[in-house]
Amino acid sequence: MITLQGKGVSGGIAVGRLSFFERSSFVVEKKSISDTAGEIQRLYAAKQTASEQLDELANTMAEKIGKENALLFEIHRMMLDDSDYLDPILKMIESQRVCAEYAVLECGKQLSREFAEMDDVYMRERAADVDDVSKRLIAVLSGTQRDSAAGNEAVILASNDFSPSETAQFDRSRVLALAAQQGAANSHTAIFARTMGIPAIIGLGASLAPGLGDKLAALDGETGVLYIEPDPEVLASLEEKRKRLIEERQELEQFRGKPTLTRSGQRIKLFANIGSVTDVEAVLASDAEGIGLFRSEFLYLGREDYPGEDIQYESYRKVVEEMKGRQVIIRTLDIGADKQVDYFHLPTEENPALGMRAIRICLTRPQLFETQLRAIYRASAHGNAAIMFPMISDVEELLRAKRIAAHVREALAAEQIPFNPDTPIGIMIETPASAIISDLLAKEADFFSIGTNDLTQYTLAADRQNEAIREFCNTHHEAILRLIRMTVENAHKAGIWVGICGMLGADPELTQTFVEMGLDELSVEPSYILSLRRRIAEI
Ligand code: PEP
Ligand code: MG
Repeated sequence: MITLQGKGVSGGIAVGRLSFFERSSFVVEKKSISDTAGEIQRLYAAKQTASEQLDELANTMAEKIGKENALLFEIHRMMLDDSDYLDPILKMIESQRVCAEYAVLECGKQLSREFAEMDDVYMRERAADVDDVSKRLIAVLSGTQRDSAAGNEAVILASNDFSPSETAQFDRSRVLALAAQQGAANSHTAIFARTMGIPAIIGLGASLAPGLGDKLAALDGETGVLYIEPDPEVLASLEEKRKRLIEERQELEQFRGKPTLTRSGQRIKLFANIGSVTDVEAVLASDAEGIGLFRSEFLYLGREDYPGEDIQYESYRKVVEEMKGRQVIIRTLDIGADKQVDYFHLPTEENPALGMRAIRICLTRPQLFETQLRAIYRASAHGNAAIMFPMISDVEELLRAKRIAAHVREALAAEQIPFNPDTPIGIMIETPASAIISDLLAKEADFFSIGTNDLTQYTLAADRQNEAIREFCNTHHEAILRLIRMTVENAHKAGIWVGICGMLGADPELTQTFVEMGLDELSVEPSYILSLRRRIAEI
């Protein structure tokens, strides 16, 4: 048995085969060839295989994500036959006598750049399609697999690290747990694992080597220990622990269906955070009173292209309907920083967390923002929806965002499309600037939700992705507590409600402080709901 110690970031026990997450490597060498005719033949054969793959994908995905979305694979297949795509590749193989992989890579990059520089938004967005088609063709030519998250069997998935977009693509039924060499407790990947209820350990280091792949493993997401080829005694004690966890959960059942109240009768709204439509199941099972944060950007991750208005509308409508009148706060797009999406073609930045992210992207790409707002407003006709803008740091930013929302409402009204014109518009308080001017922002917002994950990193100048500086990141720092207190007081002076949707909201050591500050709502990962209700009942 080998024992590896990391940091548990999502509790639970898992036992299964360890499988290393495969990423295709597109390191393409420039190889000279002498038989150009043979190389062209090889290219045509690869093109045929790629076309067949795309046909199959179009068929299977039509059932999963709808015909309209699956059309993308049809477009990719047509691109393979398009002379604008193919001719430069053939020419390069013939004139420069280079291997097909290199010609596809270079000509693909050139065409993608040309698309990315076009004025028309639709054409600009095709750059990502060109990249994807080239990747597929290179993968076939070089015999490397495309990204995959395990085969059919459910496994403990291991990697050096998982990006949020990779996590978003996992087929949850096939992932028992996550084990990573690197990572940070506050990263979106860790948050995602907790929301999905998948046990996870980060920071296992280089000893989590691919050589361990295929071995039986047992993972304890609470202690952060990964056992490779566990001894029977370890398996037995983990089984005991699993039973204990189930018993603890059963004890919490007495708080199901009860209002969230302190002993003196102070009422707190207890909401849940989600990242996708499928998380609603966990929310309903958790007995949360609403959804305080729907991280809508996860609809954009793990895709090859922008989700259109209808796809988004379907997702928001489904969540709102399934919550049956309980409030659903949909946060508008929070892409950027650690949440990168190729097709956005965001600039490479020295400090992405301080760069083009969240509301800044939406305000500079209003068309993108309008599409999302139209989808949310349309969903508002089916239940109790609210809109929330992330990363606001100035009143003017909020006013600009609200003007775009007003414009969307006017357009929908003119088109006679039903929506709720009184859909509340709130903001996240997640920069020190917004907490400091919360008195001014409160005049323009219907509610505040404090994003303590970002508020902590920006206040303490401590990157939330960097586990190495964790000791310099005291999440109970007086500066953060003062900013939260100031925000609560300013919200209440202006007569609006205020909650917390960052991870601090679930920290039982601070629950009493938050109750005393007068927070109206706490929004946490679904698995924390009942234990937090019990904690509040003790106060
Ligand atoms: C936060 O910053 O606290 C928050 C809830 O948003 P996210 O974690 O998605 O950045
Ligand atoms: Mg945030």
